[in-house]
Amino acid sequence: MNLIVMKFGGSSVANAARLERAAERIVSAYHSGACVVAVVSAQGDTTDELIKKAGEISPRPPKREMDVLLSAGEQISMSLLAMAIEKEGVAAISLTGWQAEIFTDGTYGNARIQRVIGERITRELDDKKIVIVAGFQGIDKRDNITTLGRGGSDTTAVSIAAALRANICEIYTDVDGIYTADPRIVENAYKLPEISYDEMLELASLGANVLHNRSVEMAMKYGVPLAVRSSFNESEGTIVKEVSKVEKMYVRGVTRDNDAARVTLFGLERGSGKIFDVFELLARKEINVDIILMANNADGSTDLSFTVAESQLGTSLDILEKNADFIGAKRIESDENLAKVSVVGAGMASNPGVAAMAFGAMSDAGIDISMISTSEIKISMIVAEKDAERGVNALHEKFLR
Ligand code: ADP
Ligand code: ASP
Ligand code: MG
Repeated sequence: MNLIVMKFGGSSVANAARLERAAERIVSAYHSGACVVAVVSAQGDTTDELIKKAGEISPRPPKREMDVLLSAGEQISMSLLAMAIEKEGVAAISLTGWQAEIFTDGTYGNARIQRVIGERITRELDDKKIVIVAGFQGIDKRDNITTLGRGGSDTTAVSIAAALRANICEIYTDVDGIYTADPRIVENAYKLPEISYDEMLELASLGANVLHNRSVEMAMKYGVPLAVRSSFNESEGTIVKEVSKVEKMYVRGVTRDNDAARVTLFGLERGSGKIFDVFELLARKEINVDIILMANNADGSTDLSFTVAESQLGTSLDILEKNADFIGAKRIESDENLAKVSVVGAGMASNPGVAAMAFGAMSDAGIDISMISTSEIKISMIVAEKDAERGVNALHEKFLR
């Protein structure tokens, strides 16, 4: 069976005209002989609007009900798309995450897909229908609706492609592929014809929201060929796959993530195991710590800095302040106005000069780096949020011009 999964993001289904355009594209793939599963996001800013509505009722709405609310966005677009396809003369059926048998764990707001059964989808495809599945949602083992985290419809699409062994998973969006940097930030960013799963996973995890990072993780795990294409034109797009041939580029992309905050604990007792206690407390609250920096002071004490997502800063400070006596820090400080800028490329491992070049580019731009973290395929730097865009541009100029 030649099966294509086509995912349409929020801007690609934002109004009637765009829905019709998506429908035409889907129907044209169907007429060329493919079985098609289409995955949709909520229309335009629907998800943000629903979040706002919840906020008007309660500052801390129950997470379960939040997921029930947000899943409604995709249910609107899936039915409208089915109608648009039927109008083109092809039978279509829309399915919620539950009807499509997408099973997740029970983490409301950030659930992980555990299993996609796909029997219902396959039955409908056998009936010659185009199947439309609501993105971003699933069901846990107690039959509660869950959502997969912002941008999660990409992951729905890839999980279905993996379960049904689709030939390709196409992500239709408002850019015509994956660029060397977010084209909204870097004017002369250019489109990559292809990129490896590893590099794309790193870029997505470091802030390039063109793909949900879990979708890339899953595509890599199950070997699903992934294409990112424009829903507004016919341009070729970018293929994400195992190995990319463009080996000459040792840096493939530059990205930034404004969702970074730092906590600093001053004056910890050195060698007392307090560092372990700090991270143990945070781990118990499921707080993900990113970059860690330690500095030993002349007086024998240690200062400890680490970064977390901005949304987790409040909880981090709460737990540390509650345990301040136990940890024994002299002072706790935090800073939210930070960002992480990163350079990513699989060829970096064999080019030792990259780090020096990156720091040089930032210094030439007059940007202060406060923390650094590196791996085989990336260098990340924490800077002031106000400097992040300039930093991305400086790095792009240095490596990708
Ligand atoms: P959708 O609603 O279709 O899922 P998203 O807004 O989630 O669309 O993702 C598309 C956006 O990702 C683009 O408009 C672009 O601004 C942004 N983006 C960030 N980094 C990149 C990149 N490296 N290449 C292309 N687009 C990027
Ligand atoms: N509608 C959800 C969001 O806005 C999921 C998605 O678009 O992928 O985050
Ligand atoms: Mg998206």
